[in-house]
Amino acid sequence: MLTTIIYRSHIIKNAPFESFTEMVEAAKVKNEQADVTGILLFNGTHFFQMIEGPEKSVLEIYQRICQDKRHYNIVELLCDYAPARRFGKTGMELFDLREYAPEEVLQAVLDKGTTKYQLFYNDRALKFLRTFVEATEKENYFEIPPADSWVFIADNKGAHTQAEVPDNAVDCSFAFQPMVDPFAQKILSTEALLRSPGGDSPESYFAGLSGNALYEADLKSKKVAFAMASALKLGDQSVSVNLFPMTLVMVPDAVNFLLREIQINGLVPEQVTIEFTESEVISRIDEFTGAVRQLKSAGISVAIDHFGAGFGGLLLLAQFQPDRIKINRELIKDVHKSGPRQAIIQAIIKCCASLEIAISAVGVEKAEEWMWLEAAGITQFQGNLFASACLSGIAPVAWPERKADL
Ligand code: C2E
Ligand code: MN
Ligand code: MN
Repeated sequence: MLTTIIYRSHIIKNAPFESFTEMVEAAKVKNEQADVTGILLFNGTHFFQMIEGPEKSVLEIYQRICQDKRHYNIVELLCDYAPARRFGKTGMELFDLREYAPEEVLQAVLDKGTTKYQLFYNDRALKFLRTFVEATEKENYFEIPPADSWVFIADNKGAHTQAEVPDNAVDCSFAFQPMVDPFAQKILSTEALLRSPGGDSPESYFAGLSGNALYEADLKSKKVAFAMASALKLGDQSVSVNLFPMTLVMVPDAVNFLLREIQINGLVPEQVTIEFTESEVISRIDEFTGAVRQLKSAGISVAIDHFGAGFGGLLLLAQFQPDRIKINRELIKDVHKSGPRQAIIQAIIKCCASLEIAISAVGVEKAEEWMWLEAAGITQFQGNLFASACLSGIAPVAWPERKADL
């Protein structure tokens, strides 16, 4: 199947442009052997390349391109299928946009094309090409430093606080994971993540439970969460706990139970956030928003977890506005390399800015993911890059330091 990949990248400092003309000559021959064709545009700083051909060859060539040390911040913009090649004349052609007057440059590029209809119609690939040539998306290019320009240094000052599981414990425990502002080197809050007594995942804790028993176990477990948070001496720090949205709807008097447990453990409602997974909420939205109103009027904050993962994400924001949304690992993963993820996250950021909703990114594992998200405007992070979830305790946070500053 004829496959198209488009990416954009940044040329490294002091790379002689001539070395690229040589490279393109070599690539041309190899590509033709693999039945791959395309065009490479250069604007003085950025490359834009369209590669077309059989899927396997295109993917192989793209992988090789990603390993080339002469460019960085490679962002895949499109991977799609098409009935015909747009640029099928040669294995690869390098086109220097600087050699043409602005009003001619797009036509000059299109003149290289082989597409039968030299019109845009609805062809996304050609629209990407036009946008690059016209440089109208440039404010969305975030140039991030290489991952190894940072080292992460564990903060052993407040290290490894441990809490005993309280005697009155039901049959569960909790792991704790901080949410941090890495540049400010501040812990913003700590999330309590449900575990079985042996430390197994929430899924395995809930396995075998259904209906009311599931929701009751979810609610009751928060007694342990607040007791352990209190034993960890979080002071006036914020504490987050997770709940199924249906737990608030199905268990009678759930909000009062939470308020009582918060008070018994010496916490105040204003320091507590309840996180809900959005995909669950849809069916009984009126009852759910009623329960949220009760939480809010008692001083508890509300967050939507895994935002964007379910089908109701955006609609939900029209129905009620949480204090915070948390963007999950599925969207964060390799965001620095993915045009679609970047576009989605930028849209979420813009939407939440208009609604004054705080945003945090969860599941951040790579320095590049973190740096891209900082460049996009996110300042609150949770993830193994900084601190992993720790059973009945809090792991020391690894703060980033710029190597040049050490
Ligand atoms: P969540 O609220 O989004 O919690 C974050 C999950 O991501 C945690 O998994 C955490 O261990 C994991 N995580 C954190 N940093 C990283 C990272 O850098 N990489 C990766 N790959 N994972 C990371 P966990 O503890 O297994 O929890 C899974 C989900 O279970 C939670 O997602 C939450 O939705 C749910 N959950 C947790 N506790 C409770 C609870 O008390 N009640 C209910 N109803 N659900 C809970
Ligand atoms: Mn959560
Ligand atoms: Mn999760």
